[in-house]
Amino acid sequence: MAVVSMNLSTTPAPSQALRADSRVLLGLSEPELQQLALDLKQQSYRGKQLHHLIYKRKIKDIQDFSQVPLAFRNELEEAGWKVGRSPIYQSVTAADGTVKLLIKLEDNRLIETVGIPVKDEKGVMRLTACVSSQVGCPLRCSFCATGKGGFSRNLNMHEIVEQVLAIEEIFNHRVTNVVFMGMGEPMMNLKSVLAAHQCLNKDVQIGQRMITISTVGVPNTIKKLASHKLQSTLAVSLHAPNQKLRETIVPSAKAYPLSALMKDCRDYFVETSRRVSFEYALLAGVNDAVEHAVELAELLHEWGRGYHVNLIPFNPIEGSEYRRPSKKAVQAFAAALESNRVTVSTRQTRGLDADAACGQLRNKFQKSPLPTDSDNLQPEEDVAVAC
Ligand code: SAH
Repeated sequence: MAVVSMNLSTTPAPSQALRADSRVLLGLSEPELQQLALDLKQQSYRGKQLHHLIYKRKIKDIQDFSQVPLAFRNELEEAGWKVGRSPIYQSVTAADGTVKLLIKLEDNRLIETVGIPVKDEKGVMRLTACVSSQVGCPLRCSFCATGKGGFSRNLNMHEIVEQVLAIEEIFNHRVTNVVFMGMGEPMMNLKSVLAAHQCLNKDVQIGQRMITISTVGVPNTIKKLASHKLQSTLAVSLHAPNQKLRETIVPSAKAYPLSALMKDCRDYFVETSRRVSFEYALLAGVNDAVEHAVELAELLHEWGRGYHVNLIPFNPIEGSEYRRPSKKAVQAFAAALESNRVTVSTRQTRGLDADAACGQLRNKFQKSPLPTDSDNLQPEEDVAVAC
């Protein structure tokens, strides 16, 4: 696993951490926790213990750190520290085993996280956590439920990391893959996404190559991401082979022409040696013709070699005119790409009956938080299936 050097400014240094307003343990590295122990007049191995309790044992409350002395636990709490884990407001399991969690944040906002278990041919389970990077999304891609629900704020780094721990807990299994494909646009919250990436890699011990950051394209951010030289995959949501069509599907494309986006993808490969993969949501009668596939292959060949396309047949959302293409149309599109020397995979739809499939993540508390007296409130029926 490649060791990555990353700007640590998003993770407070220990002495800074002590002064920080919100004193959250989750997100601190082992050396930072050791320093915190020293700052509180403990031996540094206590910091190592904290690290184990937070990331391996996934303990949510300082008072439950039974391995460390009560006096230290009390001191941590008196200094305003907390673990930084949030309660699960609701959990929905789809028939295929995919689990969608609604996590209630400190400001009563809800975010969605999806756990997708897949058994390989040898029967070994791969568990993918599909994490949110924002509460809602400001980008309003025409076919995505999250964009329709509005935007309220970026997530902090620990609010991203805790989603992975929550999935590990629910499945009682370690997460093997993380995809930033839940609610939100990761590149609009790059600072926290990078800090979370570092913590997931170093502290939760998920290989960089097992992490994918998906973006629809935000000007000036791909270069920034490339400068960190991560070994993770950058997935770009293309959805159209030309600017004109793309603008009708992805309104934000107007501010970031396809040629500029493709150039940034090429530069990303030059800088990181990691090929960008492209996501393409197939919308019946809109972008799913064989001619679109041929044009897409031409576009990709113009900008590089060996690009991979991931097709996502449209997952229906309420209030949308778009339709899912037939299996035959999807196969014809994939075949046209392949015969034009583009490798392609078609994403299996998972979690459809829990509204947890790609683009279906949406809840009615994206824009406004839950009422403050909601702690004892039972989740309403339509919260989980809130399209
Ligand atoms: N903002 C990021 C992450 C979004 S979700 C991005 O745009 O890449 C991850 C993928 O699901 C994106 O490719 C997105 O375009 C796709 N998606 C969103 N809604 C969808 C839907 N209803 N059906 C199929 N794919 C969808």
